[in-house]
Amino acid sequence: LDLKAAYPNAEILEDQICPLETGAANALVFNSGMAAIMTALMTVLQPGDAIVYTVPIYGGTQHFIQDFLAPWGVTGIPAPAGATAAIDAAIRGASNVKVVLIETPANPTIIMTDIRAAVESAAAAPSGPPLVMVDNTLLGPAFQHPLSLGADLVLYSATKYLSGFSDMIGGVVLSSDPALLRPMRSKRSLFGNILQPDECWAELRRTGHP
Ligand SMILES: *Cc1c(COP(=O)(O)O)cnc(C)c1O
Repeated sequence: LDLKAAYPNAEILEDQICPLETGAANALVFNSGMAAIMTALMTVLQPGDAIVYTVPIYGGTQHFIQDFLAPWGVTGIPAPAGATAAIDAAIRGASNVKVVLIETPANPTIIMTDIRAAVESAAAAPSGPPLVMVDNTLLGPAFQHPLSLGADLVLYSATKYLSGFSDMIGGVVLSSDPALLRPMRSKRSLFGNILQPDECWAELRRTGHP
């Protein structure tokens, strides 16, 4: 990314996390998983837009969509995780769908959703293809590769397996398209929710290549 620099610890971590995610060209680190998710969503969604999301979904994400985005004018359309036909109907049946957010496996039911099928449905959405975002927290970059299945963004709570010791809070967004992350990076500056230098350093000890 060619925007004004974040501090070095964040840039080093972003450079080192990127190769872990199959197909990723760029990463952004945030000070929590929720910070990563809300920044990704608030960069893309405007009042009047809609988001299709799989349920169950992490409670914080559900609260954010229902209790923050909805009063803000964004319509949340839940679709049952794993139910490919119902997800397809939700994506094709609404106008102004700008985001499809898939959490797979779902927290806490571990129901899995077909990412590639949702990407195909997104391509046929009536108001043009929404961005497909996958919360890959539970399987992690070792076991599931959403970008190679056609997803636009991969989201993580690094609080969980990416850090692994329950001693830090963090989040990551990755994409194969730098143009998608550039405006999120600006929003991160605006919101002030970058991962702090010490946490970047700690996370580097877990996921980096010293
Ligand atoms: C924990 C979790 C989050 C939120 O992460 P925080 O780092 O606690 O903000 C988001 N998605 C999933 C699937 C999670 O398990």
